[in-house]
Amino acid sequence: MSEQTGRIVHRTCPLCEATCGLEITVGANEQIVRIRGDRDDVFSKGFICPKGSTLKQLHEDPDRLRAPLVKRNGVHVEVSWAEAWQAVHDGLTGVIERYGRGALSAYVGNPNAHNLGAATFNSVWLKSLGSRNFFSASTVDQIPKHVAGGLMFGTPQSIPVPDLDRTDYLLMLGANPYASNGSLCTAPDFPGRLSAIRERGGKVVTVDPRRTKTADASDEWVPIRPGTDGFFLAAIVHLLFDEGLVSIEPRIASLVNGLDDLRAAMEPFTPEMAEMTTRVPASTTRRIARELAAAPTAAVYGRIGVNTVEFGTLNAWLIDAINVLTGNIDTPGGAMFTLPAVGSATTRGTPGKGKGFVTGRGHSRVSKRPEVMGEYPTAVMAEEILEPGDGQVRAMITVAGNPVVSTQNSSRLDEALSSLEFMVSVDIYLNETTRHADVILPPPSALEKDHYDVSLYTFAVRNVANYSPPVLAKADGRPDEWEILATLAGNLQGMGPDVDPAVIDESVIGSMVTGAVGSGGSVIAGRDAGEIIDMLSRDGRRGPARILDFMLQTGPYGAAFGANPAGLSLDVLLENPHGVDLGALEPRLPEALRTPSGKIELAPEVFVAETRRLAERAGAVDDTQMLLVGRRELKSNNSWMHNMKVLTKGSLACTAQLHPDDARRIGVSSGDTVRIESRVGVIEVAAEVTDSLMPGVVSVPHGWGHGVPGTRMAVAAEKPGVNSNVLTDEAVVDPLSGNGVLSAIPVTVTAVSA
Ligand code: SF4
Repeated sequence: MSEQTGRIVHRTCPLCEATCGLEITVGANEQIVRIRGDRDDVFSKGFICPKGSTLKQLHEDPDRLRAPLVKRNGVHVEVSWAEAWQAVHDGLTGVIERYGRGALSAYVGNPNAHNLGAATFNSVWLKSLGSRNFFSASTVDQIPKHVAGGLMFGTPQSIPVPDLDRTDYLLMLGANPYASNGSLCTAPDFPGRLSAIRERGGKVVTVDPRRTKTADASDEWVPIRPGTDGFFLAAIVHLLFDEGLVSIEPRIASLVNGLDDLRAAMEPFTPEMAEMTTRVPASTTRRIARELAAAPTAAVYGRIGVNTVEFGTLNAWLIDAINVLTGNIDTPGGAMFTLPAVGSATTRGTPGKGKGFVTGRGHSRVSKRPEVMGEYPTAVMAEEILEPGDGQVRAMITVAGNPVVSTQNSSRLDEALSSLEFMVSVDIYLNETTRHADVILPPPSALEKDHYDVSLYTFAVRNVANYSPPVLAKADGRPDEWEILATLAGNLQGMGPDVDPAVIDESVIGSMVTGAVGSGGSVIAGRDAGEIIDMLSRDGRRGPARILDFMLQTGPYGAAFGANPAGLSLDVLLENPHGVDLGALEPRLPEALRTPSGKIELAPEVFVAETRRLAERAGAVDDTQMLLVGRRELKSNNSWMHNMKVLTKGSLACTAQLHPDDARRIGVSSGDTVRIESRVGVIEVAAEVTDSLMPGVVSVPHGWGHGVPGTRMAVAAEKPGVNSNVLTDEAVVDPLSGNGVLSAIPVTVTAVSA
């Protein structure tokens, strides 16, 4: 393409965890002409899903906010940035003056994990908040995996990743990568990688209450009663001990603590006992345990369906316990630890030993839920706002989140947000959550921002690094996202509504560099802080790009400001627009361990105690009790892709899937309306009768329920669907992590007469 007709640029897709490379054709008029997979991307090699090309529609969406909104007389109106910041300043300082900083709170949503500006500046404004009331989408998603990794291996980022490209046997629980493209396992073309396992003679087994597309494409689908995976996993551990199948490789055996305690804890969990609860035949569990033990390499991988349940952390622990016991931890083809170019806690501190991981460094005010990773569960958000008393939340800041449709007991949270004295949201949409905000600050579109996946490369099946500069220039006068977050930080620090984000930026890079020099980091020895900041700031580089350059240069592959000329820096990534492949995952133990013992803790006491709690639930289940589960669709991603007509037209639908036996008993056919009722709420939604899920299970996708008054998402409102989180119960959480229980919710399902 010539300069006259336009240009082709490459960038990483920020829409899910797969980090696919995109080839974007930009016309001479700076309009997006075409988006397709980048065949030269070192990681995705041309793969793209239907969502990837919609960055164009997302950018052009007339509902995407381009100017700040302030609520006046109950209606959001466009204002200048100066007016918006004055309103933010007045609102926040008013609440601080009246109640103190303990009345402030914050919620950050899932898109923050895909965002360089958020990765570098969220911590700055959150620190400036001066309040412990921090919530995020982590507690309706993956925090059980962080807790399990933290207690077993030493840091919350110590989450082993299944080595998809070399494994001979993959056992997946509660994961549907054909729809999600993977989670906490960054793997562009996850489906292709699963097919490759089978093509090279390996085996893929999927355990799920639904026969998902992933299950269909596996060698075997094992249906399991929702919420009972802990019994299945415990029975596998039991069998590995009972049948003498434990085969920890010698290098790892000397690094393991708690083997006998684990064996004792698993003693009651025979496969027959598990079958009563899981409905998985004991013979199937026994065979799978033997297959796992016999496979040359194997990995067990569990995701959302086994994390968003009451025993989510126990499940995450048992999965990695099996990886250890079968000799598959930290070995090619097993479950391995990444060595990302930036940002991993497993590369900080002393190799092989650390302070370990603790939770409960504080408790929520009302229901005393323990802190985990500096946050409280979303489950307590509504009560912290609604319950009067010292420390009651009176103001909230949300960044790129829509908790009203994505967290438990939405109706109560909706009521709670409407009662706040002040709310500010950083968001591109006026949605079900931000409609409550007094001020909405819109960041630029994804194509107007630079990008690097700080978080997601921490869980990638290969070590890779890929930086994308902005594709399009921002319109004049519109701040970058990091500038919004830095200005927010300045306001929270009392620097006034006119604070220059550059001042915050200089302070951030200054403290990062002086902190590293002060700690005697050998990578920058010989250069003082001023010299390093000058090097980083050349050509006017500022903000996230400068911070990323510092992290790259001081990371495990870093150029170290000239000390390692072949190493990584931002300049190197700019010269490699298709990314830099840093190689397959390599064994990292014991160096990557950060437990106080320097060992893998196989049986932390809190997990063993949780096993006793699980055992109390053993017994025959009531098969007439319907259980609600969610589901993921390829063309959807939580709530934030529902304003793209190209995705929502056609088959994507918010329905209640039911097994034909249940439909018959209830007296409904596909298209009829059913009423679903839980302890906390009731919804009515169209039934979809299908034999792709177990009897006794009803599946409704989350992220729907659009078109409520005060929102501005026209396409979503045309096909609103129903908010399934009206049914999820905030009173039940995974006690170890605080994660919400979004799956296996007891409900009644009845026909709605015409
Ligand atoms: S799989 Fe994910 S990263 Fe890849 S194109 Fe689709 S949405 Fe983007």
